[in-house]
Amino acid sequence: MNAATAAGLLHLIAAEPTLLAAASADTSESDLDHRARNEDHPCLGCGSPARCAVIVNSTTAGPRWLDLCSACWHTVRRANHFAGQE
Ligand SMILES: [Zn+2]
Repeated sequence: MNAATAAGLLHLIAAEPTLLAAASADTSESDLDHRARNEDHPCLGCGSPARCAVIVNSTTAGPRWLDLCSACWHTVRRANHFAGQE
């Protein structure tokens, strides 16, 4: 996934947060860890096994899971930084 794809992904998530699985409002650090390590989710960017799980707090749809492999996670973080959303 390149930076343009990552930016597109972030826009898509902002527009359609319901594409992501709903997360519980009181998700803790260990829940993030458990999802990334012990559950089997595909990376939203490329379909590889996800290694990172983060919560996206949507204003319209509430907390949502975003599953990414390490490579996509780095790309998305950079794209997010450039978009000034950090
Ligand atoms: Zn990926």
